[in-house]
Amino acid sequence: MILQLKEGISEINSLCERYQATELKWLGKVFLVNSSSKKEILSSDQDKFEQTWVFENDIQLASRNFHNPTREIKISDLLQLGGNSQNTLMISGPCSVENEEQLMQTAEFLHGLGVKVLRAGCYKPRTSPYTFQGLGRKGLEILAKAREKYGMKIITEAKDGSHIEEVIEYTDIVQIGSKAMYDHAILKACAKTQKPILLKRFFGATLQEFVQSAEFILSAGNPNIILCERGIRTFETKTRFTLDLCGVAFLKEYTNLPIIVDPSHAMGYAYGVSDLSKAAIAMGVDGLLIETHPNPQKALSDASQQLAFDQYKSLYHQVDPIAHAIGRKIC
Ligand code: PEP
Ligand code: MN
Repeated sequence: MILQLKEGISEINSLCERYQATELKWLGKVFLVNSSSKKEILSSDQDKFEQTWVFENDIQLASRNFHNPTREIKISDLLQLGGNSQNTLMISGPCSVENEEQLMQTAEFLHGLGVKVLRAGCYKPRTSPYTFQGLGRKGLEILAKAREKYGMKIITEAKDGSHIEEVIEYTDIVQIGSKAMYDHAILKACAKTQKPILLKRFFGATLQEFVQSAEFILSAGNPNIILCERGIRTFETKTRFTLDLCGVAFLKEYTNLPIIVDPSHAMGYAYGVSDLSKAAIAMGVDGLLIETHPNPQKALSDASQQLAFDQYKSLYHQVDPIAHAIGRKIC
């Protein structure tokens, strides 16, 4: 249940206790939020609330029944996602920061095309301990240098609680990796900042579980969440994962959070990334996350799915008219 307090109500602590709720300030209003299993308030408290919402399940703050418009997320003073913007944000870069030259080359290329958000991993959540694990802090420093040089915004992922503060400090958008969707140290830390959070869906999570992860951050104080569909595990093995576009339709219909689609990790192979991108853009998503590398065959992680620059350029020019056709713009 969500309860909006009337102005001037001072007994917030006792109300929180009575309804086992947490207090949340958003858009100049004060709300109390508790479990969706709670559906009633005492008649003696009726006059303390401006408005109340009850829900069937714990998708509450993210629900369009609570707040219908898609939330506006500010990436910079000049760049917004959601709200009335109709922007479709390209978030791109190599899977990992491998060295300064590789990252700068990629930043230069993307900046030249007009891409505004540079993404690369520094703490990599690999499935084998014997593969490249990322450059860590050194990678963050290289990303920050690229931001400085090209005026791009940067995003990188946190894979566990040990470096989340560092990632929040360096980046403009914090990515919570798929495998970290349930990491409560990360979710808690992300609630304490107001920086935008790109929350990736764990490949084994239902849509309900995915949005509930976002609710952890929203209810604890950070309203700036962007969801990212990156493929789920199904019986299919020909592709790395299965891009859940039905899920994207559900999230668009029922939640007020902007949605980014990551066809690179879903497909696992460069050949499908362009077609999936076009499908996602045609659905009216708020952005794409695409991996590109100066020399994909030599990439230290996710080599098979990263686009060479010419492939990326071609994708970029193909999605542009599709975005225009549905009244959106690539940025
Ligand atoms: C990534 O974005 O590079 C990544 C590792 O993705 P995911 O968390 O979706 O597996
Ligand atoms: Mn990757």
